[in-house]
Amino acid sequence: MNKENIKVLFNGYSKFENGNYFANCSCVLIKTTPCIIIDTMTSWDEEKLLNALNEEGVYANDIKFVISTHGHSDHIGCNHLFKSATHIVGYSVSHRDEYFTEPDFRNNEEYVINEHVKVVPTPGHTLQDVTVLVETVDGLIAVTGDLFEKYEDLDDDCVWLNAGSDSETLQRENRRKILDIADYIVPGHGAMFKVPEKFKKN
Ligand SMILES: [Zn+2]
Repeated sequence: MNKENIKVLFNGYSKFENGNYFANCSCVLIKTTPCIIIDTMTSWDEEKLLNALNEEGVYANDIKFVISTHGHSDHIGCNHLFKSATHIVGYSVSHRDEYFTEPDFRNNEEYVINEHVKVVPTPGHTLQDVTVLVETVDGLIAVTGDLFEKYEDLDDDCVWLNAGSDSETLQRENRRKILDIADYIVPGHGAMFKVPEKFKKN
């Protein structure tokens, strides 16, 4: 798969302004067979999300997998738009009212979508976070949700800790795991970045 098949439709952000806190997540489209969307922002983003998809020539019913890296409101808001899709929300996999018992993310099983794309458990931010790994000719891209908050948190643990961590130990462990394998990371609340060499295992 080419890196161009992965479209970051919206860069996530998080910021304090006049004492109030604002955040929305990175939203990613993977133009592959099947077509996949990752993290659908808040419920108020319906129109802008559909417009962005249409600009890519994609319609809601073309999406066959909706993946929410975890269940927080800014990552699941528009899931309901994608009614032809299997929905993976953290460790929960469903379609309509049918829930699937496989894979067992709790036992470190993976959901393989195709030869280039799989979903793996990376708990920490919540205890049921998942990361989407995409193999491209330019390297491995990890769409991590809030396992990584933004590029700045590589140098400053406070950035991801302050964003909330249900298990600091697990999050640290899974951040390490992803840094070791990924060439690029799409964090939950910042732009995609290349993993600097100094953060890789040597
Ligand atoms: Zn978030």
